[in-house]
Amino acid sequence: MNEAARLGADDEAGRLAALRRYNILDTEPEEEFDEIVALIRSIFNISSAAINLIDFDRQWSKAAANASSNRCASQNNCPRSEAFCDYTIRSQEATMIEDASLDPRFADNRFVTGPLGVRSYLGVPLTTPDGYNIGALCVFGTEPRSFTSADKEVLSNFAKVVMSQMELRLTARVDGLTGVLTRKAFVTRLDRVVAEDTGDPTSLVLLDLDHFKSINDRFGHPAGDAVLTHVAAAMSGLVKKPDSIGRVGGEEFGILLHGADLVAAQGLAARLRERLAQLSVPGLPDERVTVSAGVAERSRGETRQAWFERADRALYAAKHNGRDQAVAAAPLEVK
Ligand code: GH3
Ligand code: MG
Ligand code: MG
Repeated sequence: MNEAARLGADDEAGRLAALRRYNILDTEPEEEFDEIVALIRSIFNISSAAINLIDFDRQWSKAAANASSNRCASQNNCPRSEAFCDYTIRSQEATMIEDASLDPRFADNRFVTGPLGVRSYLGVPLTTPDGYNIGALCVFGTEPRSFTSADKEVLSNFAKVVMSQMELRLTARVDGLTGVLTRKAFVTRLDRVVAEDTGDPTSLVLLDLDHFKSINDRFGHPAGDAVLTHVAAAMSGLVKKPDSIGRVGGEEFGILLHGADLVAAQGLAARLRERLAQLSVPGLPDERVTVSAGVAERSRGETRQAWFERADRALYAAKHNGRDQAVAAAPLEVK
């Protein structure tokens, strides 16, 4: 066990926080992970392979492949107390089980006695760069089987591939400076709203910091970075779902508000402006940070591009009218 893994072993709160950072629980299947488990299953020539994440009370499978179908229907969610992979993350190293029906730890387990009929299992922890075991990569079969140290090595190497993929996924979704969504991930959220088109009011607020270049010019780029971080934190403190904020440009942010009509969204923009008026960035105590904002409630049937553009035009109008204000976009005209 490496030093980082040893330190992470007894810190369950830290482990769960590490897992949450990836924002991956209960997400849709993703090809990259499905392909890895399919490949592992064929390399091991075994019934099933899975990427299992261990939440505080349950195991959730990000990807699973088995002999009959690509997804392992029986195991997407199971209580943590029944999860083989929980043993793996606790033991810190590979868990090898030749015949679970003869193993006192697992002989009574539902996956052994039930229709799945698990006998053999090999699992290795999925360890974050800071040493937390957030889950395990595993293979399991319906026949007894003894795994070799070479098997263990192969699976451990794949666990590293899985973690690299998790890190890449995180980088693509979360802005490194401010911790809010990247533009790409934020736009994906907007696309989802449009695709679902539920009829619930949904609004978009686009914000651009006023005269931000001048902060960089007078105080330097690191001071500008600090302002961006504090503005993002102020936004996160105001919205119910902090993961619906995106950095859509260098000093531009978007807030997606589910269940908010135009009036509610304008209210949010006003509260944010009040909060920013009181913002004091360390090192820049006398600098008043203001934003211009455009607010647009989505009209039923409106495309994401048209919706975004309406908010952007309202933002432009706020700039044009003298900055430090929010402008509401006129509703789409019903033809
Ligand atoms: P306006 O009120 O018209 O929006 O003026 P502005 O100065 O805010 O806008 P402008 O587009 O002229 O400048 C934006 C600046 O934001 C320029 C760019 O160097 C800076 N910027 C973009 N990304 C970052 C970043 O990550 N960190 C820092 N410190 N500055 C950034
Ligand atoms: Mg800008
Ligand atoms: Mg600006």
